[in-house]
This record gives sequence, structure tokens and C-alpha cells, in this order.
Amino acid sequence: NWFPPKSERLADELKPYIASYGTINCVAIDAKGDLAGVTTTSGLAFKLSGRVGDSPIIGAGLYVDNEVGAAGSTGRGEANILNCGSFSVVEFMRRGLSPEQACLEALKRIVKTTAYQPHLLGADGRPNFGLSFYALDKKGAYGSASIYSGHTFAVHDGAANRLVDSPYLFPRRD
Ligand code: ASP
Repeated sequence: NWFPPKSERLADELKPYIASYGTINCVAIDAKGDLAGVTTTSGLAFKLSGRVGDSPIIGAGLYVDNEVGAAGSTGRGEANILNCGSFSVVEFMRRGLSPEQACLEALKRIVKTTAYQPHLLGADGRPNFGLSFYALDKKGAYGSASIYSGHTFAVHDGAANRLVDSPYLFPRRD
């Protein structure tokens, strides 16, 4: 099991840590229009010793092309590595999709390829994991998307911070 145990199986004193730590992707554009991005090496708890995850793999957890856009991800790294997720998001923006549309397209591809891995599907045939993308294009347009509902992302437009609801492919299962 490469992901944390279900929270109900965790000791109470561990739960706050699991709930408050995690991977962060941050993409940015400066006043000259130059793009930058970073994804922290995974904040995932209970990783297998030696597991790398997608965060430090360029093209998976992070990809920046200063002519097009920047993208990054949080969520199930293995699915992201298999699909070159952040690279795909930037390529979709290169073809003219908005950052939000590009994130949704990359997620649709991941859902499609997950169909070949039945152990990663719930009873409804949908992925039993979450994944989110965050993207920013050369003009400063930004967006995000998640496989399941219930996610937000933080935006700073130079004046103020705010949290924005992420669009999603499916409503969250409880
Ligand atoms: N993407 C990270 C990983 O798979 C996990 C996370 O985003 O929390 O290592």
C-alpha cells in the first residue's frame, strides 16, 4: 500500500499531522511575464522507504515552459508519472486551452488510463484516488482542477490572497 492508511485506522495523536501536511505546488509569473514553478517533494505520510513520487520528476509533478505556461500537481503521484501529467497540461495550453481546461483534459486522460488498472478503481469504475493540477499561462491566466470535488487552491493576484474552488470531474464519494 503506497498511500497512507485510512484515517480511521490512525492513532488519534497522528491524525492532526496527516490532516495538516501535504505536497504544495506553486506557479508564478513576474512583472516581466517570466514564469516559475515549484513542487515540494512529497508531503505524503507513510511513504515506502525510497519512494520518489511525482513531485521531483520534471514533466510529472512540475513542468514550466517560459513561452507557454507552468503547471504542477498534488495527489496520487504514480498516476501522474504514468501520464506525464504536468507536461500534458502545458502542452494543452500550448494548443490554446485555458489553464482550467488544460487541467481538466489532463485529468480525463488519467481517468481513462486508470481503467487499465482495476485495483485502482472503485465500485463505480472511477479512480479510488485523488489528483489535482494547477496551471498558469504566459498571459497570467490561471486555473486548477481535481478529479473529485471539495478542493480549493490559493491565488495571489498581486494585491490579495484568496481561496478558489477547484472545478472537478466527479462529485466526491463519501
Ligand atoms: N504527489 C505526491 C506524491 O505522490 C503526494 C501529494 O501530493 O500529497 O508523492
